[in-house]
Amino acid sequence: MNAFRSRIVHVIETAPLDWVYFEDGVLLVQDGIVRDIGPAERFEKEGFDLSQCDWRPNDLLIPGFIDTHVHSPQIDVIASWSPRLLDWLDRYTFPAELKFADEAYATAAADDFINGLLAAGTTTAMVFVTSFLAATDALFEAARMRGMRLIAGKVLMDQNVPAALCDTAQQGVDDSRYLIEKWHGKDRLGYAVSPRFAISSSRAQLRAAGDLFREFPGTWIQTHLSEDREEIARVREVHPYARDYLDVYEQNGLVNDRAVFGHGLYLSDSELERLATAGGKLAFCPSSNLFLGSGLLDMERIRSAGVDISIATDVGGGTGLSMLKTLGDAYKVCQLRGYSLEAMDAFAMATLGNARAMGLDSCIGNLEPGKEADFIFLSPPDGSILGRRLDLCLSVEEELFVYMMLGDEGVISETFVGGRTMKRIR
Ligand SMILES: [Zn+2]
Repeated sequence: MNAFRSRIVHVIETAPLDWVYFEDGVLLVQDGIVRDIGPAERFEKEGFDLSQCDWRPNDLLIPGFIDTHVHSPQIDVIASWSPRLLDWLDRYTFPAELKFADEAYATAAADDFINGLLAAGTTTAMVFVTSFLAATDALFEAARMRGMRLIAGKVLMDQNVPAALCDTAQQGVDDSRYLIEKWHGKDRLGYAVSPRFAISSSRAQLRAAGDLFREFPGTWIQTHLSEDREEIARVREVHPYARDYLDVYEQNGLVNDRAVFGHGLYLSDSELERLATAGGKLAFCPSSNLFLGSGLLDMERIRSAGVDISIATDVGGGTGLSMLKTLGDAYKVCQLRGYSLEAMDAFAMATLGNARAMGLDSCIGNLEPGKEADFIFLSPPDGSILGRRLDLCLSVEEELFVYMMLGDEGVISETFVGGRTMKRIR
């Protein structure tokens, strides 16, 4: 049994939003699972010896972040100048992904990617790899070695990308089936059937992906939807049978409550209504949308349409793996849309909300007893302006707001996965 004593905050309900804060709290972890959480006073009354605690009175202990949309090979193209999405994919992303045909390169990059997530305080992610089976194997292995909960998939693409990145409808399904049988449900790992986006998959491949999901209904689906105006126009040319972007996926059995769609910036009322009815989720990727100039998501409109919205980095369109920076960008995008995102709402999205979007809220997302012990400590670097600003905070909400506006990897002082430490920087 390990005991941690600190200031602790976690979200216990997303709608309506509800959360618990312990000014002096204790978290008990045994065999990777949260056994108990509460005020130190209660533990003391019950005769618990508080001197055995790992005590960090000034830090803030929160659940690990969850990232619902990120591309592992794209750590190599973060911060690559480009006017727009399709140009950026052609110029940087596809050439970078070609390097992942080399197994040794892919294995080293998988380690760097997972270490980067953990350094940023992200303990679970839903990840697009690339089209190479061995590169996907390497990512699952890197997560398994660390006991991490991770969902990932080999990207399916059989057209409109460099030939060496293409699979075929049949090869894509065969490789995906191999990976599902090897990794899905093993330890804390899960598989997402991953057609990259409508432009890079033929109708035959999308249909095969939908059939594959039906064969393994416990898996997930991840892809992109309505990210950029030029992209949407291309989708119309590539899939002329479909009435709109969402319909490309609907007609091929890819829209349901296990599907997470990146972006959704330009969805029509009809698309939003159909997405809500099917239970499909969106991943809001503010850093990526700002960097690529794709657009400003209207989060209020999406929410009022009844569509579940999660939040994600979308590295490498996104400019970093830090969910704190992503929340800061979300705040700014929402400001420009006339909506002021509150800190606890933002943290709810990045933890319990994202767990819900992936159907994983029974095991992760907060620190209720019985959940997996994935958590992080936040603390400002000594002598920093951030530390000075935090000292002036009058509430934990204000403190979280300061962290999401000013924080990044540097404030994550330690990351625990399944109760085991993965990173300690101070
Ligand atoms: Zn993406």
